[in-house]
Amino acid sequence: MNVRLRRVRQLADDDQCVVSLSGVGKTYSGGVVALRDVDLRVERGEMVAIVGPSGSGKSTLLHVIGCLDRPTTGTVRLVGRDISTMRDRRLSELRGRTIGFVFQQFHLVDSVSAIENVAMPLVYAGVSRRQRLRRAAESLHRVGLSERAKHRPSRLSGGERQRVAIARALVVEPSLLLADEPTGNLDSRTGADILELFTSLHADGATVVVITHDRDVAAHFPRRVTVHDGMVHDQQPHEIASEVSA
Ligand code: ADP
Ligand code: MG
Repeated sequence: MNVRLRRVRQLADDDQCVVSLSGVGKTYSGGVVALRDVDLRVERGEMVAIVGPSGSGKSTLLHVIGCLDRPTTGTVRLVGRDISTMRDRRLSELRGRTIGFVFQQFHLVDSVSAIENVAMPLVYAGVSRRQRLRRAAESLHRVGLSERAKHRPSRLSGGERQRVAIARALVVEPSLLLADEPTGNLDSRTGADILELFTSLHADGATVVVITHDRDVAAHFPRRVTVHDGMVHDQQPHEIASEVSA
């Protein structure tokens, strides 16, 4: 292939790929090997469950996918950019506008209202206060919480808090919505509602990666990636379909 054609293909490829890991390993200081030779690509518009038992390396994988942590070996590309050559400041700036994180413990600030929590990532992005509040209100509307905008997180139910956290993740219009055990602190009915919300955001075009130890949760996803002892096994949608029909 000539050089120009290869470059054109590379660009087209990068355009589709939100994040890609190749040959990624992660060893913590102390010698724990948490990830081994992981290859994983998440394309624009996908909805992926990352599933595996406790201690298998899921959160480590989320940290690497989300560029919160750098791998020990291998390459991570976020929206086409190799992060290994990027300085921490540039990486956190890129991460801030491309990835929306959702965690099991919500991580909301209780001294301010729901809408102020949602608007917070835009402070770092240098958006004016007026625009911040407008976009935060839109984001709360997307998760069905407009009437709770003025409430402090402590006055909200667990499910409502997680919706606020999802609205905060969405406010920067990220390329990737990345969640670690988002239903882990919720009862099963509320957890199902939150999963439904992720499904509808995906239907609206969001790229969603959800980490869970719960196989029932993962069963709702078109693509599942299983982590076991730091290694991943990727099940593409057609493999899951044939498993269901078998
Ligand atoms: P999971 O999210 O699937 O429960 P983790 O990614 O949290 O798994 O952990 C994978 C392995 O790495 C475990 O053996 C865990 O004890 C270890 N580990 C996780 N974080 C650290 C850390 N900061 N320092 C050392 N070891 C860690
Ligand atoms: Mg974990």
